[in-house]
Parts: sequence; C-alpha cells; structure tokens
Amino acid sequence: MSKFIFVTGGVTSSLGKGIISASLAKLLQARGLKVTIQKFDPYINVDPGTLNPYEHGECYVTDDGAETDLDLGHYERFLNISTSQANNVTTGRIYQTVINKEREGAYLGKTVQVVPHITDEIKRRIQLLEAEGDYDVIITELGGTVGDIESLPYLEAVRQLRNELKKKNSLVIHLTLIPYLKAAGEHKTKPTQHSVKELQESGIIPDVLVCRTESHITDDIKRKLSLFCNVDKDHVIEAIDADTIYRVPILMHEEHLDEIVIEKLHLKSKHGPNLEKWQEFLMRYMQPKEEVNIVLVGKYNELPDAYKSIYEAFVHAGAQNECKVNVIPIHSENLDDTSLPLEIHKIHGILVAPGFGDRGIEGKINAIQYVRENGIPFFGICLGMQCAVVEHFRNVVGLDDVSSTEVNPEAKHPVIDLMPEQLKIVNKGGTMRLGAYDCTIREDTLAHEIYGNTNISERHRHRYEFNNDYLDQMESKGLIASGFNPETGLVEIVECEDHPFFIGVQYHPELKSRVEVPHPLFVAFVKAAIQFKKTKEMIGAL
Ligand code: GLN
Repeated sequence: MSKFIFVTGGVTSSLGKGIISASLAKLLQARGLKVTIQKFDPYINVDPGTLNPYEHGECYVTDDGAETDLDLGHYERFLNISTSQANNVTTGRIYQTVINKEREGAYLGKTVQVVPHITDEIKRRIQLLEAEGDYDVIITELGGTVGDIESLPYLEAVRQLRNELKKKNSLVIHLTLIPYLKAAGEHKTKPTQHSVKELQESGIIPDVLVCRTESHITDDIKRKLSLFCNVDKDHVIEAIDADTIYRVPILMHEEHLDEIVIEKLHLKSKHGPNLEKWQEFLMRYMQPKEEVNIVLVGKYNELPDAYKSIYEAFVHAGAQNECKVNVIPIHSENLDDTSLPLEIHKIHGILVAPGFGDRGIEGKINAIQYVRENGIPFFGICLGMQCAVVEHFRNVVGLDDVSSTEVNPEAKHPVIDLMPEQLKIVNKGGTMRLGAYDCTIREDTLAHEIYGNTNISERHRHRYEFNNDYLDQMESKGLIASGFNPETGLVEIVECEDHPFFIGVQYHPELKSRVEVPHPLFVAFVKAAIQFKKTKEMIGAL
C-alpha cells in the first residue's frame, strides 16, 4: 500500500512547490524507496497543450504523449523516472471525465455536484497511480495557492482522503513564505499564520511547514509559527534561497525533511539517502573548468520558462563537460539579416529553438545561414531543424520560393509539409504527433557517433515534417538525413556533412535529459562548442 504526501502552497504563487516536491522525492528515492510525483493544476484547460508558453512556460511532453505542466520536467530530471498522463491532471480533465460519465448515464437520477462527484474523481485520480506502479510513496502537488476559489475542491478531496487513509498513511506539507521586513528588521510570520488558518478552515492541519526565506529564520520564529499554526516546532523547517535548484535536495536533507517524513509515515528506509552521484554532479556543475556561450534563438525569450527543459539540459550537459554554459537568449524577430548582435568570437554555438507559427521564422533562418557559413556549432530542435532544411534549400541548393507550409501554404517548394494524418484534424487540443517514437540512425553519421546506437526513442510534439519528395535533392548537396522513423520513413535527424557540428532533430531531446543521465546530443553540442572556442583562441593567438 502506498503512502501519500500532499504538498500545498500558501501566501504567494511561485514558491517552488515543484522543486520542493521533487527534492523530497529525490531524498526518499535515494533512501531506497519507490516514489512518484503527481501534479494537479486548478485551471479549466484539459491540458496545457493549447496554452501559449507565455502563460505557464513550456509544455512538457511525456513518453505516452501527454502534454503536461513543466513541473513534470523537474520530477523526471530529479528522479530519473518517466512520468505519464496520470501524473498531471487539471480541473478541466476532472470535469470532462465527470461530465462524460453524466452523459453516459452513470449517475442516472442523481444531481451531479462538486461534492461528492468532483471530489470523488479527484480522489480516484490521486489513487490511480497506486494501481499503476507499486509505489512506496506518492507525492501529490496541489497547484495554486491556498485561498484560491479554484483550489477548494482539491483541498476538500484531500481532507476526505486523509480520513479514509487514516493518519499514518498520509501527510500534508505546506510551503509558505516568510518575508523579511527591512524597515522592521525582522521576519514576519503573519502571512503564514493566515494561510494555515485558511487551510484549517478546509479541515486540513499541515504536518510540516516548509518556510521559503531569503535569510535564515531564528528559532524564535519557528516557535512562533509552531504555536500559531499548530505544527510541531521540529516540523517547521527552513527553505532558504539556493544558488541552484539542484542544491535543494541537499538543503532539505540538512533540514531533516526526509527523516521527518519517514518517521511520520512509518516508512521503512534501510539507509540514509545515497546522494553520491548527485553530489558529484553538483561539484562538476559548481566548479567548471571551461566556459562557453551558447546563443538560444527563440521567440518566447522574455520568459525563460518557455524553454525550461533546454536550459536544464544545458546545466546537465555543462556539468558533464565540466563547463559553464552561458545561454544567451536572442529574439529571432530581431535577426533581420545574417549577422548576429554578438561578435563572432563570443559565440561558441547556436541552438535554434522549437516553436509554432510564422513569427520570427526568417530570423531563425538567417541565424542558421550565419552558423553554417562560419562553421559555428549548430543544434536545431523541431522547428529549428525545419528551419535548417529551409535554409539549405534556399541558400545551398539554390531553389526559390522555399518554405514550410506552416509559414507559407502556397510555397512552390514546400520542403516542410503538414503530416498526412494531420490533414483531417480539426481540434487543436492533443492532436499533434505526440510522445515517444522510435528512430533508426544511419551508421557513419554524426548522430550515430553521438548516440553510439542505431535504435533510439525520443519524444515529439509537431504537426509538420520533412517532405520526403526532396530527400535526394537535400542529400546531394550535403544535408544528410541521418535518422528516420522505421515505420513511416519520417526524417527525424538531419546533419551537415561539411561542418564541424551541424545537427537538427525533429524531436525534443531536451525532454529526456536528466541530472544523472545528461542527454548525449546536448553533451556533444557543448563539447563541440568548447572545441570551437579553443580553435578560435588558437587561431587568434597565431
Ligand atoms: N511548428 C512545427 C510543427 O508543428 C514545429 C513544432 C515544434 O517546434 N515543437 O511541426
């Protein structure tokens, strides 16, 4: 039987519930327990797939093709596990299920209500994971902030479930903020008192208070919080701002969060957390021997969360190479000619990001021409790969009126075209080519050298693909298709023969990079950037 941990948030949003949940899960996993994490999002969208990245950041895609919240990326990166559709549920999906059941006649004769029908569906979703894998612990992160109208059914479901589960099988961790008032010269506990009171009104008394703070809180503050919030003083713990999210598991262990949880839930942990690999990663990350600048050409750069997994994949690959990777975002809309707003010796690699629609496309193509002509390492992801193909046909093959039909449906040479199965699709939600697909890599290619493998599986999220009518023409001029879907022949990887490092992939490798298993493509790209920098420095010194 699984034990359940619920993580709620108070006072403000963006306190990092996802990171605290992932850190606790990591500690429990490192103690030999089988753990998974799930997130409930209180919005009405059925999933975040239809959301603009400016809303909640990137849409994270799982192996089974679920379009999910970016926190699932943290869970996978920290735990080195694969999540699924069951790990992210929205209010929209809960209601959709209940309404569909109502239409089928499942509640015949009954009035369908928030309590018990919506809360029952929430409870069913929480327990679904228990049936899926024999987890020792299931951590459920409740999105939103206590006090929000839309969070109420979730809190009610947690209250009910806690009663059903009996005390020793569940606990509630409340993450809160302890602001420091400079003028008064002290930390303030009042906002936390209020948010815990709010939680108590829903019938939930938190077992642990995790207090986000910019500076250390005193024992007195903990005592006060304990007194007013009805939480054991030893269970009031500090979560001080960290220099990197990857230090949070270590900090939480120092605060005994894992011990508290083990004790409260009567869990059997044979040993303390084995964090050797994690510590090794942190050391490599914090003490780099090299430094490179990678330009990230994208169109959602105002919000770095829109490219969360790409940034994190660079952290993992950088640590692997003992190299500090400075990711410099440049807006594709600002690239209206083939130069870049940075001197060439300051750029050691360019990544052209995924994206949708025509905004900023020409800037991406210009950037690719620049790196191709200057021998700068290039890595294109999804739309980035599609732009590399368009650039090749325009500037190397020399065709005119070349485009992707996403940008120009009337183009004479649609080298990137809508996938045939997309033609009949009308609905926007959940209808792209999503999730893990196999890819076969051709031997004697850069991709093969990087993966060291012929068969790989990577995650996807796209509607357009390389138009195979142009395959021979593309390859005859040096852009090689080095990876294919074995069933459909869809081109998954392209690479440039006469270039030190030029690779574009139709899939999203960033979604599979983990702290303890960095993605080989990112590792190779960073290595190529280091090499490029060294060569440039050598030439400069001559
Ligand atoms: N817009 C492109 C497509 O749908 C690329 C998608 C992406 O970059 N994720 O095929």
